[in-house]
Amino acid sequence: MRRTVKLKLDLKEEERKTLEKTIKKFKKACQSVVESGWKEEGLKTYHKNKLHKKTYTQIREETDLPSNLVIRARDRASESIKGCVEKLKNGEKVSKPEFTSDSIAYDKRTLTVWLDEMKCSFSTINGRIKTTFELPEGLNEYYEKYLKDGWKLTQSTIEKHRYEDDNPFYLHLGLEKETPKNSSPNPTVMGIDLGIENLAVTSTGKFFSGTELFHKRERFEEIRGKLQAKGTRSAHLTIKDMSGRENRFARDTLHRISKRIVQEAVEKNIDVIIFENLEEIRENISNDKKFQSWAFRKLKDFVEYKSEEYGIETRTVNPEHTSQRCSRCGHTSRGNRDKQHFECEECGYEADSDYNASKNIGMRTILDGQKSQSRMSNGQLALKSGVLKPNGNYFPTRES
Ligand SMILES: [Zn+2]
Repeated sequence: MRRTVKLKLDLKEEERKTLEKTIKKFKKACQSVVESGWKEEGLKTYHKNKLHKKTYTQIREETDLPSNLVIRARDRASESIKGCVEKLKNGEKVSKPEFTSDSIAYDKRTLTVWLDEMKCSFSTINGRIKTTFELPEGLNEYYEKYLKDGWKLTQSTIEKHRYEDDNPFYLHLGLEKETPKNSSPNPTVMGIDLGIENLAVTSTGKFFSGTELFHKRERFEEIRGKLQAKGTRSAHLTIKDMSGRENRFARDTLHRISKRIVQEAVEKNIDVIIFENLEEIRENISNDKKFQSWAFRKLKDFVEYKSEEYGIETRTVNPEHTSQRCSRCGHTSRGNRDKQHFECEECGYEADSDYNASKNIGMRTILDGQKSQSRMSNGQLALKSGVLKPNGNYFPTRES
C-alpha cells in the first residue's frame, strides 16, 4: 500500500532560488541519461548500471548535483525508457521522454523528515535546506492517520506546483505500509449495484443517491452546449471555469460516497466488496454516458483504495441479468422489473430494483466460487441485519 501526502514547504526567497536551480539541473540530468540510453531505431538501454557507467561522471561535472540526486535522476530516466520499451512491445507508439515537470526525486539519503515537528531537510546543489512545512487544508485527517499507523517513509518528491506564485514548492511525501491480507475462510461479501437514480446500493440496504451528481451534470452539459454555440472568448472562459468546478464537485461527491460505503463495510465486518464489471469507456457514446462510466469507475477505485487499509478486498463480477433475477428464488425474467420496482413473477418478492440487483451481484460471486472451488464458495452475503448462505439459510445478526 502506498500513499502520498502533500506538504507545503516554507521557504525563504534564497532557498526558493536554490531549489529552483536544483530542479532545473535535476531535469537536465534526467534528460542527459535519456539521451544516452535512447536510440530512435534499434535497442534502447534502460539497464541502470550501463546508464550509470555512461553518464555518472559527466553529469556530476555538468550539474553540481550531489551524488545521490544524480543517481535518482538516472533511475527516473531508466524507468521512463523502460516504460517506452514496454509500450513498444505492446505495439504502441512512443516518443523520447522529455522531462518537463518541475520535480525532483528524493530518498532516505537526501531527505530527512521529522513528522512530529513538521520539519524536513533535503539536498540541493548548495548543501541541505532545513525547513518547516504546512499541511494544505483538508489533509489534516490523513496526516494524523499516517503519522500513527506504522507507515514508513519511502521515495518522495519535491514538486513545484504551477499556478501558485507565493511559495509553490511541495514535498510529496511517499509513505508505505504492508497491505493487510484478507484470508477469511468463509468471507462475508457485500454486493454493490451502480446506477443513475441510485449511484450505489449495497446488499446491506444502504442507498446512495445519484440525483445530485447526475442531474447537476446534465444541467452543466446543457449550459455548456449553449455557451459553445456562442463561441465567444468569454463564453470559452466561462466553460473552462465551470468545468473545473464541476469536476471538483464530482470528485468530492464520489470521495464522500466511497468513504461511507467503506464505513458501512467496516461496520458490517465485510471481507470482500463486490462490484459489477465495468465496461471500457467507448469513444462513440454521448457525453452523459461517458460521465456515468467515469463516475462508476472512480467510485469503485476510491472504494478499493480506501478499503484496502482495513484488509477489505474488492472484486468484480459479471453483472449479466443481475437486474432481472429475483434475489429470493432465482427466477430470471424481464417482466420481474418495472424501473425502480422489482416484483418477482414467480414468488412475488418485492423490492427496490437496485437493491435486488446488489444482492444478486454479491451472491453471484459466492456461486461462481462454488464452480471454481475458491474460498469464496464458503462465503455468505451480508444483508441489512444478517447474512444469507447460498443454500438459502439466513442468519440474523444477534443484537448485543
Ligand atoms: Zn422470486
